[in-house]
Amino acid sequence: MAKKAKAKKAAPKAKQVAKKKPAAKPAARRIVAARKPAAAKRATPKSPPPKAKAAARKRKWVYAFGDGKAEGAAAMRNLLGGKGANLAEMSNLGLPVPPGFTITTEVCTYYYDNKQTYPAGMDAEIDAALARVEKIVGAKFGDASNPLLVSVRSGARASMPGMMDTVLNLGLNDVTVQGLAKQSGDERFAYDSYRRFIQMYSDVVLGVGHENFEEILELHKEDKGVSLDTDLDAADWRQIVEEYKTKVKEKLGKPFPQAPRDQLKGAIAAVFGSWMNDRAKTYRAIHGIPADWGTAVNVQAMVFGNMGDTSATGVAFTRDPSTGDNSFYGEYLVNAQGEDVVAGIRTPQHITIAEKQKVGSRLPSMEESMGATYRELRRICDRLERHYRDMQDIEFTVQRGKLWMLQCRSGKRTAKAAIKIAVDMVKQKLISKAEAVTRIEPASLDQLLHPTPDPKAEKQVIAKGLAASPGAASGKVVFDAHDAETWAGRGEPVILVRVETSPEDIHGMHAAKGILTARGGTTSHAAVVARGMGRPCVSGAGALRIDYRGQVMTVGTHTVRQGDTITIDGSTGEVILGTVPTIEPELSGEFGTLMQWADQLRRMKVRTNAETPLDAGTARKFGAEGIGLCRTEHMFFEASRIAAVREMILAADKAGRERALAKILPMQRQDFVELFRIMAGLPVTIRFLDPPLHEFLPKTEADFDAVAKATGVDIATLKHRERQLEEANPMLGHRGCRLGITYPEIYAMQARAVFEAAAAVAKELKRSVVPEIMIPLVATRQELEMMKRVVDEAAKAVMAETGTKLSYLVGTMIELPRAALRAREIAEVGEFFSFGTNDLTQTTLGISRDDAASFLDDYVAKGILPADPFSSLDTAGVGELMQIAVERGRQARRDLKLGICGEHGGDPASIYFCEKIGLDYVSCSPYRVPIARLAAAQAAINKEKPASEA
Ligand code: PEP
Ligand code: MG
Repeated sequence: MAKKAKAKKAAPKAKQVAKKKPAAKPAARRIVAARKPAAAKRATPKSPPPKAKAAARKRKWVYAFGDGKAEGAAAMRNLLGGKGANLAEMSNLGLPVPPGFTITTEVCTYYYDNKQTYPAGMDAEIDAALARVEKIVGAKFGDASNPLLVSVRSGARASMPGMMDTVLNLGLNDVTVQGLAKQSGDERFAYDSYRRFIQMYSDVVLGVGHENFEEILELHKEDKGVSLDTDLDAADWRQIVEEYKTKVKEKLGKPFPQAPRDQLKGAIAAVFGSWMNDRAKTYRAIHGIPADWGTAVNVQAMVFGNMGDTSATGVAFTRDPSTGDNSFYGEYLVNAQGEDVVAGIRTPQHITIAEKQKVGSRLPSMEESMGATYRELRRICDRLERHYRDMQDIEFTVQRGKLWMLQCRSGKRTAKAAIKIAVDMVKQKLISKAEAVTRIEPASLDQLLHPTPDPKAEKQVIAKGLAASPGAASGKVVFDAHDAETWAGRGEPVILVRVETSPEDIHGMHAAKGILTARGGTTSHAAVVARGMGRPCVSGAGALRIDYRGQVMTVGTHTVRQGDTITIDGSTGEVILGTVPTIEPELSGEFGTLMQWADQLRRMKVRTNAETPLDAGTARKFGAEGIGLCRTEHMFFEASRIAAVREMILAADKAGRERALAKILPMQRQDFVELFRIMAGLPVTIRFLDPPLHEFLPKTEADFDAVAKATGVDIATLKHRERQLEEANPMLGHRGCRLGITYPEIYAMQARAVFEAAAAVAKELKRSVVPEIMIPLVATRQELEMMKRVVDEAAKAVMAETGTKLSYLVGTMIELPRAALRAREIAEVGEFFSFGTNDLTQTTLGISRDDAASFLDDYVAKGILPADPFSSLDTAGVGELMQIAVERGRQARRDLKLGICGEHGGDPASIYFCEKIGLDYVSCSPYRVPIARLAAAQAAINKEKPASEA
């Protein structure tokens, strides 16, 4: 009984491989463990240990910027974080940047390494930097009549949109708010700013959730009988501020902090603390960002976009982040502060007239309403793009007509846009072809390789939103991120539907096939995060009425409940009822140009793993240069063949087996004919039978019946034979070449089928066809020698029968540690090696590939393994064996052909490793061929894989 259970469990080998055919999601699985998470929970900073203090003293912890100069620069990204480095760079360029300072990422690392304490000397550096800001601005932190207010923002090395917390208007208290009112001449503005500060600070730093404050505000509006914030006056805000403070006191048992230095201290600690919050950890896990990179803290003089109708706040992209078109693109909000645009709470206006007209908006564009400021913004953006030689994503604020730059960074973009921008920039002579090739994240090509809705298909469009992230996705509607995760975990495709998303939803967005929101622009959280993840997204579909409580949404007369299927098209913004048929993408234009450059720059060839004409054809279309692995056992699963295969397996003797093999031979021959035709002279590697036998054994009574009928053997005898064949651990059982050793007639039949097909196609195409015959699971030289003899004999026979001269290679997979170690003697016989890294990983780590899922995630989360070794090569262990095999194999045979055909052949990080150890080719599933072509080019250009700068 126990035996049976085990055998069953191991059964999905073939299934598992087949399932992997569409591109896997390697990046998502590359989880890096949080650094010392326990430390984050410990409270109250204490003095650092003396030794750490001494070591720390030499370093500089705070870097100032503003007023046309900075102590930092763009190149110091690792130390200052992306935001800090670019603020410094913009200051150095003389652009209008509110002055401020950056507390380095090393402080964050120190903080977590030293029981949440700060390095000695940091406070003094903050004092000096703050004094410099005061001098530039002409205001004083905490001053009653002329107070300096600051923002406190996080800024990691890699951009983490929405992940880290921000505090604005810091420095306001009961006294300075009056100073701000006098200084600005706008009491309403001052108290509005103060209540925003109390809410944000309480939420982010003190842990008093924003809902507490929203409730107070709503009640106040109700009492007053108004619905908009703009209907409230200074007296209202003053009263609300009092109620907010009372709420904080009630929740915390102590008053809201009034001393600006205490406020600043709290905010800095909160930013460092938020590096370890769940949202940040999830984002890092998804994007492979190491926890020890840390975040910097940026403290910067406040500028206000909410000082009336000549003030505004906005975001802009120097090119369209969705299409890559070289057209300035952006959104802004008049009289708004801070994160209002990105948060997607109000639907923003367009910056340019062109964009406004394109979408048919009636709201004035910035180009119309603030002409001069708009022109200055354009000048600055052009300059930044030329300076960084990349598309920039910019945040700005206009305070009473004066433009301030708050951030610039290389903008996130869709894969389609990334390719267009890179190709256009080569044409503009801004970057080289090699640079263009290295700028595209190989895994992101996945977005382009996926089907889009068939334009001829009937579809019932129920709503239209913004085309926020391309591609089409169908799935069952869920309204909650947790449900998305649970349903997806059960294998159900889901579309996450939200009014708007927030960073708390990130795990659900990741689990979903697509994301649909009712509110928010193309720079809203949902849009930005979906693009980064490569998920289709439609945002701002304003016609949706979503009722979370009832788990239902209505659109006009349509009602869509949780579990109903919809399709979203992130390229058009359409929301469609039901599932829509899709068509394959067109891989031409800029994509073709970029791939051509990649092909010119790469050294390794790219082949595909394919056994059906459909897969082989798809792979050719994607640029495969041959077949690196044709798993012949996969050809046996078809209903018309399986009976003959079972007959062969269950045969009691050689004669019985040969009768069955005679039935299989013509089918195999036809398979190979088709593959040789499609590959038209390109190399085709045919791997001989390698099934854990249990995968083919009859399972149901009907299966036994069919075999009994075909063979004339009674069912009881067949069942007895089936029990004889049962194995405790089929993955390490009678599979691979061990089958060929016991039953050489099986491999003889396969060799004959290959050679007869090669002879026929060579004649038909009038060109030579050179099959590469690959023997699986070889551990010893003798095994390969014996199998080669079988192949050679078949070749000789077919050549004699057909009168055709045939060339062919016989090689082996390296998928057992012994084979890697004894590679030298194995290469004396084998003419090529192909690393079967699925089995090599399984056998090196001793982790069953069928049973790994239940615990591997835990291993990765705990930092024992850097990634799932079945998705991304364990370069330290499995990689070392590969390196040994390469060296020893080439000692015996200098021209030994070397490839890889495990799943890792389509994983960019593993491809870097293959380039480094000098493999000749990688082979992967058809949909990953373009990814592999690009990754191989990048590996040839860079050799070392750069750490992810997601
Ligand atoms: C491998 O082991 O890496 C391989 C390609 O063979 P299979 O997955 O068929 O065992
Ligand atoms: Mg294998």
